[in-house]
Amino acid sequence: MRIDVVSIFPEYLAPLELSLIGKARQDGILDLHVHDLRSFTTDKHRSVDDTPYGGGAGMVMKPEPWAQALSAVAEGHPDGDRKPVLIVPSPAGERFTQALAYELAEEQHLAFACGRYEGIDERVIEWAQEHFTVRPVSLGDYVLNGGEVAVLAMVEAIGRLLPGVVGNPESLVEESHSDGLLEYPVYTKPSVWREREVPPVLLSGNHGRIAQWRRHEQYRRTAERRPDLLEGFDAGSLPRADRTEL
Ligand code: SAM
Repeated sequence: MRIDVVSIFPEYLAPLELSLIGKARQDGILDLHVHDLRSFTTDKHRSVDDTPYGGGAGMVMKPEPWAQALSAVAEGHPDGDRKPVLIVPSPAGERFTQALAYELAEEQHLAFACGRYEGIDERVIEWAQEHFTVRPVSLGDYVLNGGEVAVLAMVEAIGRLLPGVVGNPESLVEESHSDGLLEYPVYTKPSVWREREVPPVLLSGNHGRIAQWRRHEQYRRTAERRPDLLEGFDAGSLPRADRTEL
């Protein structure tokens, strides 16, 4: 997969050189390029923002540097039938979820446009549709200072789904949000720590009972912490006692 990120703070994306994502880049699984928006300006101050039409607080990102930067990204699109997907991080976008991470992990080429200030001139988003499938995406219902933190989170969530990035692909299967429920609690050695015992079923060696306990814990934890996830959840895979509660 190819990923292009455009930002006025390219250094903000340095963590994408570390850990599993950094290794995926070294291994050639992820071809990730970070571009400095200011290198696409033409004035001596390298300005990327201006005052908003209609007045109000804050500044708005100017269209011209964005058009130059995104045109360069579109030109680097590897040949293919599909347009690249341009993700515009925004608190006014659709919510980023595990389902969207899976969907985007199928793409050949993603680009991210990191806004700052009050955001990017809306005409850029309209114009970019000529070259990209444009998706404004929100990390959650709160406001960050810029799109870079959202990009770090999204690239990590998407990148770890690419084949070969996570050593054991089995570990992706039972995670929170993979099947509509949160993950069950996990434990490691020692079996007693500060007078707290690991649930005895996990030491029983009975795989059927362990699987049933884990499924019950998934349900219990989801009902307690995120009851909204249970709306419309298919209860067929739950232990009988949990099923009747739904
Ligand atoms: N004025 C904008 C609004 O109210 O919708 C917020 C602008 S915010 C200060 C600056 C930039 O941070 C946004 O353009 C976006 O790139 C990023 N950002 C802020 N919150 C975000 C969120 N929840 N998800 C994704 N990106 C976010």
